Amino acid sequence: AKSAGGNRYELADPEADARVITRHGLTTALPAALERGEFFIEYQPLVHLGDGSVRGAEALVRWLHPQHGVLGPDRFIPLAEHTGLIVPLGRWVLEQSVRQARAWRERYGETTAAGPLRINVNLSPCQLTHPGLVQDTVDILERTGVAPDALCLEVTESALIGADDDLLKPLRRLAEMGVDIALDDFGTGYSNLANLRRLPVSVLKLDRSFTQSMQQFPADPVDLKIVEGIVALAHSLDLAVTVEGVETGAQAEQLRILGCDTAQGWYYARPGPPERLHELALVDATA
Ligand code: C2E
Ligand code: CA
Ligand code: CA
Ligand code: CA
Repeated sequence: AKSAGGNRYELADPEADARVITRHGLTTALPAALERGEFFIEYQPLVHLGDGSVRGAEALVRWLHPQHGVLGPDRFIPLAEHTGLIVPLGRWVLEQSVRQARAWRERYGETTAAGPLRINVNLSPCQLTHPGLVQDTVDILERTGVAPDALCLEVTESALIGADDDLLKPLRRLAEMGVDIALDDFGTGYSNLANLRRLPVSVLKLDRSFTQSMQQFPADPVDLKIVEGIVALAHSLDLAVTVEGVETGAQAEQLRILGCDTAQGWYYARPGPPERLHELALVDATA
């Protein structure tokens, strides 16, 4: 590293330099990566806690980088958001995921024991403020011939904190069409609970930190009370509760007793190729 002038100077930090180069390199490689088809999607099943049937899956994007191998979304989504590539990338993820949902629906039927077979797709805050969101979504559903109830869009709680009507309008339009909206990472954003009534959401996705606190037995009594309270509030507002990061049967059981509706996590399945859902035999759960 160079000296910064005056009596201040920076020590050479080769690792930091490598990180900067990688960040920069990844950022400039993103647009071509989308064109070359280096992104792919893994699917993680969503399981109904009541009877263990598969309800659908969440789409999680990965980048098969020619030099660095498979990169997780935490490595490149922030860069894509920064450069605006998230809009075309997000549109690509949405279209691929909806096509996958159609394939599952053709194979297993449109409904499961616990409701419509659904694909969950993450939306970044930049996509929310992009004016094409509603039209792009409508186009994709029409092009693929998939009903809106096959789609659940996940928006983080933090993206909606203090959201004004302009930000909520596209989500409202999508919700009116029958698309489900889930509030992701719920419980980490300190949002006003009363505010929930204003949001066009139908699902709360409880953050993994709550699931982690169910690891000990007996679980922390305060955490139990908090989850119990969130579930009661959610149900009184007609919202379903999904829990993520379920890694053990004990956690699943605890969360089921607390009244959570749907679960997701390594205990059931890691994110994987779409065939994994076939292995979990959607139809058998209803038989
Ligand atoms: P998220 O939406 O909260 O997704 C859940 C993350 O938890 C995923 O990480 C998933 O692989 C991981 N996970 C699932 N089950 C377990 C478990 O039992 N234990 C633990 N420890 N982790 C579990 P992943 O795939 O690395 O994704 C990270 C984040 O990247 C996601 O967090 C989401 O915010 C973002 N993301 C992923 N795909 C997309 C996308 O297509 N668009 C946008 N905008 N964001 C995406
Ligand atoms: Ca999510
Ligand atoms: Ca989440
Ligand atoms: Ca998360």
